[in-house]
Amino acid sequence: MRQAMMLLLVSLSLPISANAQDPRAFHAKELADYYKGSLRLGPNLARARTIYDQLRNDSGMEFRVIPCQTFSAGQAHDGGIILIDISLLQKPTPIVAFFLSHEWGHEALGHSPNIYRPNANAWRIRYSATQDEDEADEYAANFMAQHHYALDPVIAYLRRIPYSRGDFTHSWGPARAQHVQSVYQNALAQDPTGNQEPGSDKPVDCDEAFADCRREAGRELNELARTHLEEIKSLGCPCNNLVGLAFFNCREECNTRMAEMEIERDTFWQSKLDECKADRRRCQNK
Ligand SMILES: [Zn+2]
Repeated sequence: MRQAMMLLLVSLSLPISANAQDPRAFHAKELADYYKGSLRLGPNLARARTIYDQLRNDSGMEFRVIPCQTFSAGQAHDGGIILIDISLLQKPTPIVAFFLSHEWGHEALGHSPNIYRPNANAWRIRYSATQDEDEADEYAANFMAQHHYALDPVIAYLRRIPYSRGDFTHSWGPARAQHVQSVYQNALAQDPTGNQEPGSDKPVDCDEAFADCRREAGRELNELARTHLEEIKSLGCPCNNLVGLAFFNCREECNTRMAEMEIERDTFWQSKLDECKADRRRCQNK
């Protein structure tokens, strides 16, 4: 009975301490991480490189990642530029993996125009103020599950982010944490290797074959994107450079064709991915 009471008390007190969001303590820690991170930038970048390679292989896309001071975990910019904070790179690997994949998600999903999705942002309808951020969180949660990164440090970090009245695009920290956790758990439940130790990332043969299949699909997608770029140039569209914003000032026929191309690339990628998934199912059922 006493044990039961203790358990009850502990479980009642947990959410309160887990949600403690002291802005001064949070920002002091961020500043300390920035200075420590500046001194350890080389090794920290080497560690982030593994995550970068996973993101590149998974998505079949390649974006530039620049370490700097952003006063946030990171930012995704037009033209496929990701700024990542030096203080973030200093944090435990799962936290680096989460925020790098979150920013990668903004680019891969076309929240900022880039070479793979030149018109995506302009053509999208958003259903809520936090939609882009929630989608990038989902992208990151799926990535974390796929590679068996531990989620607990990320959840604890998200819960500590202080409430900001001026921030309408991010869901509130604890709500974000809950959303990320449920997407992560769903992804693990669908992943036959999901019961492995977090972080071990040792795929069984079928998963290795799947990763190879997806890498190959990524290469083919890049090839298709290059063909599209050539076609756009040959149409004489005045928008044949790779800087994101330049795409917005194109002639109507250029915009139309580029929108079609993007759907073509989406469809191509989706069907290739479905083929890879079907192969994996067949492999697992052998
Ligand atoms: Zn974001």
